[in-house]
Amino acid sequence: MLNDSPTPHFLKEHVILVTGAGDGIGRAAALAYAQHGATVILLGKTTEKLEAVYDEIVAQGYPEPAIVPLNLLGATPQHYRDMANTIEQQFGRLDGVLHNASTLGHLEPLKNISETDWQTVMQVNLNSTFYMTQALLPLLEKANRGVLLFTTSTVGSQGRAYWGTYAISKFATEGMMQVLADEYANHPLTVNGINPGATRTNMRASAYPAEDPEKLKTPEDLMPVYLYAMSPECKEHGQVLVAQPK
Ligand code: NDP
Repeated sequence: MLNDSPTPHFLKEHVILVTGAGDGIGRAAALAYAQHGATVILLGKTTEKLEAVYDEIVAQGYPEPAIVPLNLLGATPQHYRDMANTIEQQFGRLDGVLHNASTLGHLEPLKNISETDWQTVMQVNLNSTFYMTQALLPLLEKANRGVLLFTTSTVGSQGRAYWGTYAISKFATEGMMQVLADEYANHPLTVNGINPGATRTNMRASAYPAEDPEKLKTPEDLMPVYLYAMSPECKEHGQVLVAQPK
């Protein structure tokens, strides 16, 4: 994997949706995909953050992106079906999706997890990913070489004390990725997960407040793997790509 960097404009005329595109890893991925020629659909909760990424992409002279301000907590399956229709009408295609937005919830013993925290984290991290994927699959199926990427975590394959709802949501996300990869085993759609590993973002800082962020990789450091996963060079299907191998 990753022996060759993708060619500079390998995403030219491709349309890619990135969730959580206003901050952290999603922001870096949106910029990286735009730099390689993609028209990026920036989905996220905070409009100002999305506008800042939009401005940065335009200032760099990359293809003009689109903004979808959407709080995944309140979004319904109908919102995703409407979004899929709008993407089809405006762009006529969808080549890739990076499911990246997530929320951490409270880190606490499982017996203490509140109903609200459970439902919030499951809604944002899992239910929204499921409903959005269902709505977007018809468009991805039509792409010459569609790519569907899910974001998981080390606690999504090995349970860890106090990571309760977040960890459980990531186990389920990884399961969704595997089920879909098997369903599309004989189809041009490529389905994988990415585990970014410890990365210098707001989410990491809220999970590890005492940690020195300078010791962590930045979102930009991970972009070779995010680009590879979106590229025709990607040979994996149904796998979790580890962005920071040990
Ligand atoms: P950040 O908290 O920096 O960014 C998360 C993004 O998701 C933000 O853009 C945020 O938007 C968006 N988001 C959160 N809640 C919602 C919502 N309800 N509706 C819409 N958008 C929402 O996190 P990271 O960049 O660190 O994480 C990116 C992915 O990587 C996540 O899936 C995370 O689980 C995973 N990950 C991260 C690791 C790390 O060390 N950083 C390690 C392992 C996995 P807004 O800013 O507007 O709230």
